[in-house]
Amino acid sequence: MAITKTGFMRGMQCPKMIWLDRHKPQFKIIPPEVQERLDAGNEFGDRAMSMFGPYEEMTIYRPGTLIPDKKAMVANTLKHLEAGTPVICEAAFMNYNNYCAVDILRKTDTGYDIYEVKNTNELKEQFIEDSAFQYYIIDRCQIKIDRIYIVLNSENEDDPYLIEEVTDKVKKLKNWVNENIWRLNRLQYEKDEIDIEPGIQCNEPYECWYYGYCHPAKQEHSEERKLIDEDI
Ligand code: SF4
Repeated sequence: MAITKTGFMRGMQCPKMIWLDRHKPQFKIIPPEVQERLDAGNEFGDRAMSMFGPYEEMTIYRPGTLIPDKKAMVANTLKHLEAGTPVICEAAFMNYNNYCAVDILRKTDTGYDIYEVKNTNELKEQFIEDSAFQYYIIDRCQIKIDRIYIVLNSENEDDPYLIEEVTDKVKKLKNWVNENIWRLNRLQYEKDEIDIEPGIQCNEPYECWYYGYCHPAKQEHSEERKLIDEDI
């Protein structure tokens, strides 16, 4: 059993999403505008790696692919923790195969601070929740975390990083993560498709990549509408 931060957040939005990820991934459609947003977020995240000066990045891909090699990343992170590297980016941790990679892990006198980078100027509740997943995994790996920050995009080119501390809010969610991580882990392996009615969760907080699969009538209707419009 295993779940990643993205899987956890998707499962909390709608458990059926992670069931579909495992059993019917061929129905996943990432809209182009969402992919553009993800790419822009990755670019901002890459730039932010140097916000504290020199750093070591842990990303390792499986040979010939762009798929992260999680086990190799975890081993690399461990090596840098033991060496006392001051700033570790994409620091990877695994606990019972549950996995996370932290954008920036910065050494302090007593432990480490976490910095999660988000390409927006608004601090959203889901950022606190996904940081709580990171904190839960790292804490179970016996790494002492002092403070937790979200790095937002100030949209000011001269001073792009807006740093918000969220330590208390994140640490308070540890039990909430514990209650849900094992439930979602079990649920994604269930044999039968999870029966969940489409609803508000299909668009909140993010549009679901299985929207077309769960709303076939609407999709057909919009396809028909498109054909009619094209005929006119
Ligand atoms: S479209 Fe809606 S019901 Fe279907 S998996 Fe996504 S969130 Fe769940």
